Formats: sequence, structure tokens, C-alpha cells
Amino acid sequence: MSLFKKTIPEPEPVQVNGRSLICPHCSNNLFWVRKAQLNKASSSFFGIDWADRSATCFVCSECTRIEWFLGSNS
Ligand SMILES: [Zn+2]
Repeated sequence: MSLFKKTIPEPEPVQVNGRSLICPHCSNNLFWVRKAQLNKASSSFFGIDWADRSATCFVCSECTRIEWFLGSNS
């Protein structure tokens, strides 16, 4: 059904800090998980030089809203 079925895995329920992640826009609870590397320039821009320079992105499978979490220990 989906054009992306071959290249994108099935979305999955996600927990962050022990709480289920729910999309604030459409209340969906299934997300695609992506890791993102933040380069030094963008870290400085956002004032997060102190943070791990990797982020975890959860993309809502319904509305494609992206939730970002710094660090990768989810
Ligand atoms: Zn959503």
C-alpha cells in the first residue's frame, strides 16, 4: 500500500524515559526511529554545546511530525 514499504521499516511504539511517546499532533503512537548527528555548528546555534552531539528522531507514522531527543539512550 505504501510506496515506501520497501525502504522504510515498520513504525514502532516508542518509550522515552519510561513513558510512551504519543504524537502531540495526531495522538498516534507509532514512529519511525532515526539517529541524527548534530554537527558543531548546529550545536552551537542551538546552545547545546554541552550535549551529546547525536539526537534521536522519532517520525510520526501518521502525520510525519518529528520529535527530537538529544542523546541516544532511549
Ligand atoms: Zn502524528
